[in-house]
Parts: sequence; structure tokens; C-alpha cells
Amino acid sequence: MSKRDYYEILGVSKNASADEIKKAYRKKAIEYHPDKNPGDKTAEEKFKEAAEAYEVLSDQQKRQRYDQFGHAGVNGAAGGGFGGGGMSMDDIFAHFGDIFGGHFGFGSGGFGGFGGSSRGGARVRRGSDLRVKVKLTLAEIANGVEKKIKVKKFVACQHCNATGAAHGSDSTTCTTCHGSGRVTRVQNTILGQMQTQSECPTCQGEGKIIRDKCTYCNGEGIVREDEVININIPAGVMEGMQLSMSGKGNAARRGGVNGDLLILIEEEKHPDLIRDENDLIYNLLITVPTAILGGSVEVPTVDGKVKVNITPGTQPGKVLRLRGKGLPSVNRYGTGDLLINIGVYIPENLNREEKAVMEKLAKSENVKPNASASKDFFSRFRNMFE
Ligand SMILES: [Zn+2]
Ligand SMILES: [Zn+2]
Repeated sequence: MSKRDYYEILGVSKNASADEIKKAYRKKAIEYHPDKNPGDKTAEEKFKEAAEAYEVLSDQQKRQRYDQFGHAGVNGAAGGGFGGGGMSMDDIFAHFGDIFGGHFGFGSGGFGGFGGSSRGGARVRRGSDLRVKVKLTLAEIANGVEKKIKVKKFVACQHCNATGAAHGSDSTTCTTCHGSGRVTRVQNTILGQMQTQSECPTCQGEGKIIRDKCTYCNGEGIVREDEVININIPAGVMEGMQLSMSGKGNAARRGGVNGDLLILIEEEKHPDLIRDENDLIYNLLITVPTAILGGSVEVPTVDGKVKVNITPGTQPGKVLRLRGKGLPSVNRYGTGDLLINIGVYIPENLNREEKAVMEKLAKSENVKPNASASKDFFSRFRNMFE
């Protein structure tokens, strides 16, 4: 499932302004508008593609995540049951109705007749999205994790099988729309005369009217309940990322399509490790004798401690790199490293004996730095002086 680049879809550069993006989308939307291309599947796909691109690029936060992580940053990562993207025609008009500047004359009533379905009946309702936050430790982020989360949400009413009708009660066809759920009107627009359709106000787009309402859900077809949802979080996610599980949100009234579950990722601070994208950083302070003589030191990683070797004559500012001990990329492009910044602790309180050892050492030629050692040492910190 390879998706096209959102900037490419809209034909704008990566640093396009919000206004340029809006203009570019408007142009594409008019070009591929279903009313101008009736029955043209390719145009419909392009129309949807442009809307999806605009949905992301018009939102400052989503755009930032997209720039950083690509499609995975805005659609949920691969695998783990996360359905990526895909907007229905109803979504598009509900979200961006304003972009058409009223020229198309679409009300909030949605968009019957198109949307790739040939149901012929009333348009399908969609439940609202559900939002949850999930706080993760670095270890969970490193390995991916399954979280069980209890949510209160609308689910289908079991008593009426989500129809909203009392047992044995039937429904009558709506006389306003004759069962189509839509009312049609003809309008003059910039594209010439067009038929536009909106939701039937009598039956709210359902095409029929229930005679006896189900008493458990008051005819709504949905009830509010607790549900435990299993969320598979892929490895490598980052603070601020949003994943979505399609169909896990609220159920719609009377047998519509479920909304999505949106999962916002939060990261718990690790006591020792600092995250830098997919790399981890650990600041390690070693003793003077270890720096001089070398030795083995324990260092924390996301999954337990490891031993690292300090070579004799290790200078402060040296960075050790443990390859692959960082975090995996959410896009699965490899794994980061663990970088160990080495500092040397200079003792402040020595007793007389210890001082005597130091004084003896101070007389040795071997402890004196020369010009090349100085250059070598400070080259590590070059960026600090520039
Ligand atoms: Zn019911
Ligand atoms: Zn009706």
C-alpha cells in the first residue's frame, strides 16, 4: 500500500504556505469534483486523494508529523490493525465544505448519490470518532505493546438489533422523500446548472419512519456502554503521534458506520535515558582511575543493563555508540543507537594519603598534555567553541 506524497498530490512545494495549499486544493477539488465527472472512478479517487492530502497539510500539527514521519505519522503505522486514512465523500464535504466557497451549494446535509456506493437508499450515517490518550514507557515504545483500554462509547442496541424499532414494529416509508432519504434541488452555479441533494428533513436521511420506538435505546439504535478495546501500538511511536483504528469509535444511530478510535501517544520520561528521535542518549560519569586504567561499566538500556568496556586513557567528552540499542523506526527503517556521553568525575575531597599519590603522579612527565593531545581533546568539543 504505497501512498503518494501529499505535496505532490496537491502540486505544491514542501514549504508552501497555508494559503497556497488551500488554493491548490480548491483547484483540484473543482477539477475532480464528482458533479463535473459523473461516474468517473478515477476522478473520484483523485478527489478523495486531494481531500486526504488537504486534511493533513491544512492542519499545522498533522503537517508537522507528516513532514517528520511521512504517512505513518498521520495515518497510524503499518500492521497492528491500524486502518490508514481513506475519507468518505461525506467526510470530505463535512470537513471542507467551506473550501468550495458556497459555489457548489452543498449544505451540511451531506452528499447523496456519490461516494462510490450504489446503495440507492438513504446515505449512511457515521458515528463520531473517539479519542484516547495512551502513556507509554520507552521499553513499550522500543518493543511495541498491546494496551487494553476501557472506553465509554456508543454501541449498537442489542434489543432492537440497532434498528431503533420496538420488537415486531415495522416502519413506514417517508412520504417527503419517498424512501430515498434525500431531497433534490436544481441550482445555478459557476459550473452551470447542477442538481444538488441534501438530507431529507423529515426522516433525517433514513428514508423511513419507525412506528414504535425501541424502549431500551429510545429509538436511537445505540446505547452507551463500557467497552475494553485492545490497542496494538507499533514499536517506535513518538510523543504527539496519533494512531487511528478505523471502526472502533462510536456506533452511529440506527445501523450506520462506526466512527474511528484516535489514539494520542504520550511518552513517559525515562529516569536515565534521553530520547533523540530514534537514538537514545546516556550521560555516563566515570572515575579518574577508570578513565586512566580502563574498566567495565554498567549502562542502562531500554531493556536492562549492559556492560561496556572503557579503554585505558579514555578522555572526557568521548562518545560510545552501541549500535541498534536505540529505538526502532516506526516506519521500520532500521533502529537507532544508544550514545554514551562520557564524563570523568574529578574527586573533590581526597584524604592526605590520596593526595600524596596525586602529588607523586604530578611529577611524572606522562601526565602532562602536549600540543597534539590538546588539539585532539578539544576537537571533540569543537561545536562548543564555534
Ligand atoms: Zn434499541
Ligand atoms: Zn424522508
